[in-house]
Amino acid sequence: MRTIGHYIGGRNVGGESGRFADVFHPSTGEVQAKVALASKAEMRAAVENAKAAQPAWAATNPQKRARVMMRFLELIRGEHDALAELLASEHGKTVPDAKGDIQRGVEVVEFACGIPHLLKGEYTEGAGPGIDVYSLRQPLGVVAGITPFNFPAMIPLWKCAPAIACGNAFILKPSERDPSVPIRIAEIFLEAGLPPGILNVVNGDKEAVDAILDDEDIKAVGFVGSSHIAEYIYVRAAETGKRAQCFGGAKNHMIIMPDADMGQAVDALIGAGYGSAGERCMAISVAVPVGEQTADRLMEKLIPRVESLKIGPSHDGSADYGPLVTREAVQKVASYINKGVAEGAQLAVDGRGFKLQGYENGFYMGGSLFDRVTPDMTIYKEEIFGPVLSVVRAKDYEEALALPSTHQYGNGVAIFTQDGDAARDFTARVNVGMVGVNVPIPVPIAYHTFGGWKRSGFGDLNQHGPDSIRFYTKTKTVTQRWPSGIKSGAEFSIPTMR
Ligand code: NAD
Repeated sequence: MRTIGHYIGGRNVGGESGRFADVFHPSTGEVQAKVALASKAEMRAAVENAKAAQPAWAATNPQKRARVMMRFLELIRGEHDALAELLASEHGKTVPDAKGDIQRGVEVVEFACGIPHLLKGEYTEGAGPGIDVYSLRQPLGVVAGITPFNFPAMIPLWKCAPAIACGNAFILKPSERDPSVPIRIAEIFLEAGLPPGILNVVNGDKEAVDAILDDEDIKAVGFVGSSHIAEYIYVRAAETGKRAQCFGGAKNHMIIMPDADMGQAVDALIGAGYGSAGERCMAISVAVPVGEQTADRLMEKLIPRVESLKIGPSHDGSADYGPLVTREAVQKVASYINKGVAEGAQLAVDGRGFKLQGYENGFYMGGSLFDRVTPDMTIYKEEIFGPVLSVVRAKDYEEALALPSTHQYGNGVAIFTQDGDAARDFTARVNVGMVGVNVPIPVPIAYHTFGGWKRSGFGDLNQHGPDSIRFYTKTKTVTQRWPSGIKSGAEFSIPTMR
């Protein structure tokens, strides 16, 4: 059995803890590798290694750091297809979707190529008599990222590229479910000229995460995963004085106004609801048609589309989506469907019990669709993270607006309408971090920032874009004057600009 260790100091190292987790091939259900789970001592060794390497990297001028990013882009372009296949084989998403996972991460590396410009500070000449003030941004030192299984290329790259470009050393603790792509990313960075120790990948579970949280040399932690763990990390990071940005789960609504083009809305819902088997933090999991007639028209078109979804192994390029990540994930989604039925929602399409011929042990699940879901039901309140769409019928626009606004999660939301006035009112008033207007998955592009509100995001700075530079640097402000001699003696009152 293949074993996957860690990547520390520019080389692959085996695990020493004796603890391992299974890495599955979700399409077949087989265990394809064992990944080492790091001990506290192994995490400490990785931090020591990063700490020793970081000062020289921070002292490397930003243009040279940018060139490493540029070279990385060239190298990963040549490997894009092979990397997507590796990613899909551990995650279960289709290969075309895996290519998108890598590409959305690569776009943040492209953003990080602008680091010489992004790091420029501010300067005020003559802020007082003979006084100039300037601000500069300095790296934090060693920082860490803890990432989820569902985007094993994109989210590690969202975190490590800006952090490294800023002059930090980065410890990546990826998901133990699909660890191979993060390790390959670190290897490619080394080939691109990144010094050993600036990107260390340490595989593990709660023990490794707690070791990050307890380590005084780690100055910031970026997390993406489920909300209860995001909150745990945010609280623990604050206790040890670390900066933290922790992104959690989601329940993304799509509002369908009576004037929406129903063909477009249904296409959008099918892709955003069921793509990647619903295992996306920006998946649409709640559709909110406004008015009974809109709801009836929606269901009429939606039901046959859900029934005809094509589910296949991850290497089947024609499949709409592949298997879920683990058997436990399938069981968890099925138990939510059972609960929805028990609580009185109408199960219009039932994806439980789906089997793919020739792949009977794979972790597949058919598409499910609920109608007449109400806000008191468990399937509405909680994140299911599977190929299940819930339709909540709203009597009018205000009721539709209130649903995502008062939900515990606030990651993404969308409105489909042809009325600019309604869309403008919605974008202004909805209490959610990322909004789409006739766009079902409003993931911002690399040079804007990504982040949800409420229980979808703990912390105040978003991922990528300008916020990532602020998060991974600290601001130093210098007030300077060069007097030729003290002219008026000591000054005891605080100087002001009056
Ligand atoms: P998860 O919370 O199970 O795991 C995330 C990370 O935390 C992994 O690295 C894992 O090893 C670690 N971890 C797991 N249990 C832990 C524990 N008890 N203590 C400390 N660390 C622990 O999440 P997942 O299942 O890998 O990913 C799916 C979740 O991530 C969904 O809730 C999804 O919405 C969310 N997500 C959010 C965003 C976003 O930007 N808001 C993006 C992608 C995924």
